[in-house]
Amino acid sequence: STGTMSAEELMKRGKRHLSVALKEECVNKNHVNLNIVLDHLLSKNKEIDDAETLEWCKSIIAGDKTYKEFLEIVKSYNNSSICGLVWTAEYVAYRCRTCGLSPCMSLCMDCFKAADHDGHDFNMFKSQAGGACDCGDESVMDAKGFCPKHSKNKDRSKIEPPKDLLFVAEIMIPRLVVRLVQYLRHSGAEKQYISKMTSFISFLQELSETGDLMQQIFSNVFTSQNDYTTYMISKSDVGVEYDIYEASLKFDTINVNKYFPELADDLIHKTLLDEMFFWVIKSKFPEHLVTFLLSILPNEQYKLAFVEVFVEHYRCMMVELTHSEDKSSVSNSVVHISVQLLSPLKLAIEIVTKFHLIHIMFACLKHIINQARYGNTLNLTSNVMKEHCYWPIVTDFINILAHPPIVQYFLNSTSLVNAWADVISSLQGLNMNRREHDLHVEFETETYYKAFSAELEICSTPLWALLKHLNDSSSKQLTINIVNILVTYLNKWFTENSVGEIEMNPDEMSFHYPLHRYLSLLISNALQQQGMELTDLLPSLEFLEILYLHPLHLLVREFFFFFVFPFNFVVGTYKICYV
Ligand SMILES: [Zn+2]
Ligand SMILES: [Zn+2]
Ligand SMILES: [Zn+2]
Repeated sequence: STGTMSAEELMKRGKRHLSVALKEECVNKNHVNLNIVLDHLLSKNKEIDDAETLEWCKSIIAGDKTYKEFLEIVKSYNNSSICGLVWTAEYVAYRCRTCGLSPCMSLCMDCFKAADHDGHDFNMFKSQAGGACDCGDESVMDAKGFCPKHSKNKDRSKIEPPKDLLFVAEIMIPRLVVRLVQYLRHSGAEKQYISKMTSFISFLQELSETGDLMQQIFSNVFTSQNDYTTYMISKSDVGVEYDIYEASLKFDTINVNKYFPELADDLIHKTLLDEMFFWVIKSKFPEHLVTFLLSILPNEQYKLAFVEVFVEHYRCMMVELTHSEDKSSVSNSVVHISVQLLSPLKLAIEIVTKFHLIHIMFACLKHIINQARYGNTLNLTSNVMKEHCYWPIVTDFINILAHPPIVQYFLNSTSLVNAWADVISSLQGLNMNRREHDLHVEFETETYYKAFSAELEICSTPLWALLKHLNDSSSKQLTINIVNILVTYLNKWFTENSVGEIEMNPDEMSFHYPLHRYLSLLISNALQQQGMELTDLLPSLEFLEILYLHPLHLLVREFFFFFVFPFNFVVGTYKICYV
């Protein structure tokens, strides 16, 4: 046909005939009719879960094959050396510490069983937050643990796929992705719209699972600034959806700039991936969408773009988390994604040095802690503390501290260590216990336990992660840096609390002095592991006197709290010790 026909007229020819004809036209670089049909099928006026539309899409992308045949053929040319299988919570996966270069490495059941881990230190685990298979990825694990299918030595078919195999897909996939993002825009992330996308996303997921050829096409679309501008910004019919999008963008944000003036705060979407990820967050991480986005990660170009998008939206995720009704599910979703990105060393370095993830994490942590701030201390019954909103951040922080170069980078940065000391300071003197004079305390309050888990999770676990790397004299300077900064913060805290000047209230005490704990563990570690002398580290005598005085006060009170010695006796002991 030479004249322009309408989509309806074209589609009268039936799926099979039209699909063959459209592919034929694509081979001749003619996309006119294909675009007419796609305009119709992917129009925003159509329901996204319309089954007939999906059947048409599947038929057209397959061209002269059936859809099933088409998937099989594309899969047969899959040249990817990385498994990348994505799983969700409750999946049983494996971890091999002998093969893993990162503590987060994980393997799917098939890859683990097909590889040789005889005599290795491995375990089977039920995935808490979901994950993806690292088999074939040398940045995360030793090649010796690869299964035969993803092994380097496997003769990869160098046979090129037939040139015309993906001609239709190359035109169609950008349109499908645009349709999805437009739909998300239209939905404004409301729940009832999200579940309607299931069949549409399964379709995209099936395509992505065929391997590297299709993933490359997805990657090109997702990362192209051109496609984004063309379809999502400049098109005149963007209309009301654009207003929804703009309104959603104006969420209350976390200002990283406030804590780190060198960093900018603006969030500008430049690619389809940017906006897609934004909607993923706004719609509280729908599983099908997350799994689809993660399934393209074996593509290197996409992975780099994804990392940047992830870090840029980190603040946005944390705001969403603090507002969410189901905080633990949002937390798990964040970690499900971040664990894929923080495991490979090269990527982790990029994330931290180029995209400043640690800076952003600390700003978010401060933001969350400030939300719980109550006068001089923290309100442990506030939602953000009660529901452990800090958990994904601290987990990411600990995961990233598994890499020695990152620990170096962190401890070498005065502004980062200062920010960290500031975070720790906010837990100093947490949950003051008041002495009960008349009654026996049968059960401790809820906050009593919350305080221990907050200090353990926010302060202690990262400290243990740090100490692992401060294990010889080469890291002396790093210890000196952090000790000096801790001393400054302790001094500040002494002044603010008039320690050493006025008698402390004998009826009050806290179990939580993380600044003290950091200082004492770092100094004792320096003496035992790093071959340092006390004189290398000890601050002024004046400071030391106050430093001693404070725990003494505490010890005395701890005595008093639990054993209720006669008051005179306690005061006597304290005086003797101090003198
Ligand atoms: Zn696998
Ligand atoms: Zn494998
Ligand atoms: Zn192994």
